[in-house]
Amino acid sequence: MNADFLETPIEYLKGIGPQRGELLKNELGIFTFGDLLGHFPFRYIDRSKFYTIRELSSDTSYVQLKGVLTNINETGTGRARRLTALFKDPTGEIELAWFQNIKWFKQSLVPERLCILFGKPSFFNKKLNFVHPDIEWVREMDTPAGMQAVYSVTDKMRNQKMDSKALHRSVIYLFENSSLRVPEFLPENIRTQNRLPLRTDAFRYVHLPKNNTEIIAGQQRFKFEEFFLLNLKIARLKLKRKQEIKGYVFSKIGNNFNTFYSQKLPFELTDAQKRVMKEIRADMATGKQMNRLLQGDVGSGKTMVALLSMLIAIDNNTQAGLMAPTEILAQQHFESISTLLQGMGLRTELMTGSTRKKKRTEILEDLRSGIIDILIGTHALIEEDVQFKTPGLMIIDEQHRFGVEQRSKLWYGNSLAPHVLVMTATPIPRTLAMTVYGDLDVSKIDELPAGRVEIKTVHRYENARSDLFKFLKNEISKGRQVYYVYPLIIESEKLDYQNLLDGFHYLKSHFPEPGYKLGMVHGKMKASDKDLVMNAFKSGELNMLISTTVIEVGVNVPNASVMVIENSEKFGLSQLHQLRGRVGRGSEQSYCVLLSSVKLGKVARERLKAMVSTTDGFEIANLDLKLRGPGDITGTRQSGILDLKIADLVKDEDLLIKSRLEVERILKSDPDLSSPEHNDLKIWMKFQSKRTKDWGRVS
Ligand code: ADP
Ligand code: MG
Repeated sequence: MNADFLETPIEYLKGIGPQRGELLKNELGIFTFGDLLGHFPFRYIDRSKFYTIRELSSDTSYVQLKGVLTNINETGTGRARRLTALFKDPTGEIELAWFQNIKWFKQSLVPERLCILFGKPSFFNKKLNFVHPDIEWVREMDTPAGMQAVYSVTDKMRNQKMDSKALHRSVIYLFENSSLRVPEFLPENIRTQNRLPLRTDAFRYVHLPKNNTEIIAGQQRFKFEEFFLLNLKIARLKLKRKQEIKGYVFSKIGNNFNTFYSQKLPFELTDAQKRVMKEIRADMATGKQMNRLLQGDVGSGKTMVALLSMLIAIDNNTQAGLMAPTEILAQQHFESISTLLQGMGLRTELMTGSTRKKKRTEILEDLRSGIIDILIGTHALIEEDVQFKTPGLMIIDEQHRFGVEQRSKLWYGNSLAPHVLVMTATPIPRTLAMTVYGDLDVSKIDELPAGRVEIKTVHRYENARSDLFKFLKNEISKGRQVYYVYPLIIESEKLDYQNLLDGFHYLKSHFPEPGYKLGMVHGKMKASDKDLVMNAFKSGELNMLISTTVIEVGVNVPNASVMVIENSEKFGLSQLHQLRGRVGRGSEQSYCVLLSSVKLGKVARERLKAMVSTTDGFEIANLDLKLRGPGDITGTRQSGILDLKIADLVKDEDLLIKSRLEVERILKSDPDLSSPEHNDLKIWMKFQSKRTKDWGRVS
């Protein structure tokens, strides 16, 4: 296989040269022939026929029409500035409008000269029009052709006459180049099994298609290829780690576990908790490092699984660490775990950013000498000077606040890798689990402890607040407590912060002292002040806690039974689900009230409807992924793994699954890709990894 052709510098292409080459590099990151081929069209114009104005409807896609322009007019100034014209053909007339590049369009439009218009009609003021259509002047040879590719270009390129059409011409030159050879790397049988065209053909299909069928065939090939390579990369990473990275062997279940299990366990484990414990036990006994993701909806009892796993670590003469994303959570874990472990003779410590220096020094010393069995804390646990003597198991709670890079710090320089258990309540859709978290083994707690009362969720418009307040007062009179959340999308934004303060004062005026006690927490408060308020709420001193999303994760106040969320349309579904999970932790009926403005878009309405209709975290996560795309799911963007170019995690799920099956099949028989039929694939993987940034070691 030879990828030289693809690596040819772009300036060597006919019609490009150094100047345009520079433009392509700077504007689109196109350095080579291969890059140009990989700059896929983002849509196509059907040039196989000319449409007439009478045929157009709001459903019409990108089409071409033949006619003339009249009434070319520039109106307005500043933002309202626009260029309009009328386009006429024998069947009627339609308005055109341009809002950008007005100067350029104005001087290029010629009235009454026969032209071809390309565009997609849209509705404006109850009439069809074309916004930003392309205009081309008719030449002799303008007979209908096939589908024409349209490429994204930047304004700067357009100004230097390097528009979509120019780019298309370059692509044509590339195909006319007699030496166009694009190496194939997909094994023959995979290609035929999945009915995918050769790579060379696929490039031709997407850039110079004759018809829709070709476009689809070409796109399928590249989508499959993208998923296939991604899956292969992840699977090999995982394989390699399993082969190479040694972990502590936890061969026995000892005294600590057994004593706790038989004498201290405050409740019967759910079947799901038992199953997950079995998986974790088996994994930690293999001698390989465990890398496991524990998924369990809010309130499913992950903490107990964490504790039991830590006891196994201690029984095997190692130490365990538990990291939480916030101080409040770390403290909460510390309190509940210390209480549970009372009388067991184990040493458990808490270390956070606000731990006093003297105490910290003492902890660090005892950690190094191995006296401390369990260390619970925040990011403070992965600071430079923290050294476990034998870090056997590291647990990370609420993974999405922890970057991949932080996971890699858990080794503490030891030669044996600690087992890693990552716990998350953010349900991860299947497609993401396969990609972003594809290198982790997954355990799921898919059942809540018995006796929970399902939370009642309602959606109310803001103008129904007075009814809501009556309801809240009634709940408070029964001894219940209320969370009241304001959106603070970016913690540092002044506006959002003001929103919260205003809200606090507004609520205070409706719930006045001394009858009502209200508290407020937000991310900008000092940790100690925050704790003060949180503890007052936990102890029942406060009736209502007004907050930002700082209470999103993990906080456990069983007596709080109402969650009110202002501007709920501004939150992501998964986030709403997390917030809702703060209530429903006791035996009382709990409520979640989603307030929104009266004006709601279609998608927003759909999302809130979904929240009302289901409490199933997985269903919600899938819907969130569909409605918002993977970029918005916390923690995935930074991973860089999801820089998909053409494939779509949601729409192309079937290809993701197919490609994954193929990867599994290949690696089963040929894990090193050393057989001849996988030779090209191996070379391609190397070639590709040279060109993409290193992923580094994930955890
Ligand atoms: P999460 O998975 O959200 O971290 P927690 O571990 O905080 O959930 O558990 C939520 C609550 O459920 C806690 O009060 C915990 O004591 C309780 N719990 C956990 N497991 C069980 C069980 N098997 N039966 C009854 N209650 C349980
Ligand atoms: Mg938890």
